[in-house]
Amino acid sequence: AEAPVSVPAAVAELDPQPHAEAAPDDNLNGKDTPVDTTPVHANALESLHFKHHKDTPREKVVEDNYNQLVSILQQVISEPKVDNLVRPINPSTYKLANATLMIMARNQDLRGVLYTMRQIEEKFNSKFHYPYVILNDGDFKDNFIDRVTKMTTSKVYFEKIEPEEWNQPDWIDSSKQKSQMKVLKQQNIAYANKVSYHNMCRYYSINFFNHPRMREFKYYWRFEPNTDYFCDIDYDVFKFMEMNNKVYGFVISLYDAQETMPSLWPETLKFLNKNKNYLNKNAAIDFLMEDMQNPVKTEFTGGYSTCHFWSNFEIADMDFYRGEAYTEWTKHLDQTGGFYYERWGDAPVHTLGVGLFADRNDVHWFRDIGYKHHPYTNCPHSDKCHGCEPGLFTYEHLKDQNCLTNWWNYEMDDTSRQLY
Ligand code: GDP
Ligand code: MN
Repeated sequence: AEAPVSVPAAVAELDPQPHAEAAPDDNLNGKDTPVDTTPVHANALESLHFKHHKDTPREKVVEDNYNQLVSILQQVISEPKVDNLVRPINPSTYKLANATLMIMARNQDLRGVLYTMRQIEEKFNSKFHYPYVILNDGDFKDNFIDRVTKMTTSKVYFEKIEPEEWNQPDWIDSSKQKSQMKVLKQQNIAYANKVSYHNMCRYYSINFFNHPRMREFKYYWRFEPNTDYFCDIDYDVFKFMEMNNKVYGFVISLYDAQETMPSLWPETLKFLNKNKNYLNKNAAIDFLMEDMQNPVKTEFTGGYSTCHFWSNFEIADMDFYRGEAYTEWTKHLDQTGGFYYERWGDAPVHTLGVGLFADRNDVHWFRDIGYKHHPYTNCPHSDKCHGCEPGLFTYEHLKDQNCLTNWWNYEMDDTSRQLY
């Protein structure tokens, strides 16, 4: 799916964004610039990125984005209008895609795991029987295994994560870690000094797809305890990904706390400078670098809006993560210690990887999957959905957190906007 090109070639080849005024071609005009001396940042990415109307008041940007989101969510939809949806006509002979439903959990998460599994079974998996993988850094109790096994007729793999894969590397400087976490704590960053949370984010960012059990699969659907699924899904979402060449699927897109990632974007640019060939010529630069709705965030991070695909739901192709670009980039990130000196979430890491190294046309908004992880909801207006209010996104005071409309406006083409 990747079509890596050198940065100058990308600049030369990239069509101007249909929604934006043509970007003035500052310092980089492609062909003549020698590859090795072109700094990726400031020049290359920003010249790929359209220029904003800084004079639009932020309040209006927030209001417009929110109204647009609600009006999109209120349109009546059903399934994606492709002619290759696959349905399980005969479940007993149905041939599955190479895919699994996966979750990370501890014994204490049992109730929440069952709560969500019940819904996934009812809405989707009782029609398909995809296997589950449940990952834990500790050992599951018999009761956990027993209760989860009884929730589905599908195979469930209970898997342990090796300590070497899970724990923080021993070269992490613990006094630096402590003092940095104190700062984050003072900024009220959730889980700042919970090492297990840092381990979890790092594992989801760089390791889960190489767990021996996960290695048996190509696609995964990640779910989380205590999340809700509102709509019947009557076609095979994994085969949808496969047959339509999708690399990554999401439902909700949000900004993050910028304080968790001071060096994530700068380190990423450092990496890109040395590895320009990994940048996809259809990278989602405008989505990543938007700076109108929450300009404070984009400024703080040095150019990344913090807008991310919310990773507590995702359906994606692990071969993308296993590929050279994502693997080399996350190796670079990991050795900076940023998963412990800062509090990088796996959502911005997945998003930057997908946004930079995948083709944006291979990213899919699962508009038809009604979903809630407190406090945000994706609720389609569809006969297939029950128990949520179409158009509802979140509480009033959080409505500036929506950035799905950036994906819609900057990265989707008309075909994908009209897919439902
Ligand atoms: P939040 O959504 O960012 O508040 O994070 P959650 O508490 O929902 O955690 C994200 C996912 O990781 C959930 O599936 C949790 O069950 C799981 N998780 C978090 N911490 C741990 C941990 O220390 N061990 C294990 N095994 N799973 C964890
Ligand atoms: Mn969660």
